[in-house]
Amino acid sequence: MAFFDKINDFAKTATEKTNNAIETTKLSAKIESEQRTLNDIIRKIGEHYVAKIDSGEVLDEEVMAIYEGVIESRNKIAEMRAEIEALKTPKPVSEPAEQEQKFCPYCGKQLDVSAKFCLNCGKQQP
Ligand SMILES: [Zn+2]
Repeated sequence: MAFFDKINDFAKTATEKTNNAIETTKLSAKIESEQRTLNDIIRKIGEHYVAKIDSGEVLDEEVMAIYEGVIESRNKIAEMRAEIEALKTPKPVSEPAEQEQKFCPYCGKQLDVSAKFCLNCGKQQP
């Protein structure tokens, strides 16, 4: 019966491995979720102190040094927002350039500049 015992052991071990893997996955997901909660709390602490410094309070040197990064980052964001605004504002339109002329190189018919084929001879335009 030793053979069947071995089979049973093997099956047990495989089941255990699967269960452990499932449990590990579950725990990893819980850790990730808890990590997000923790990050959120830390962010709130940060926002609390940034608001204090914004309103003129001076905190310890280390915090003030980190705050320099806040200023730098805010400035970058402001610059990029200004860039977006500049992109939204249409540039002053120069007078429409004199309509370019195009002629079919095969038959000489005047064509629309965007014409892909000649209306007269039907040849593809370069
Ligand atoms: Zn043509």
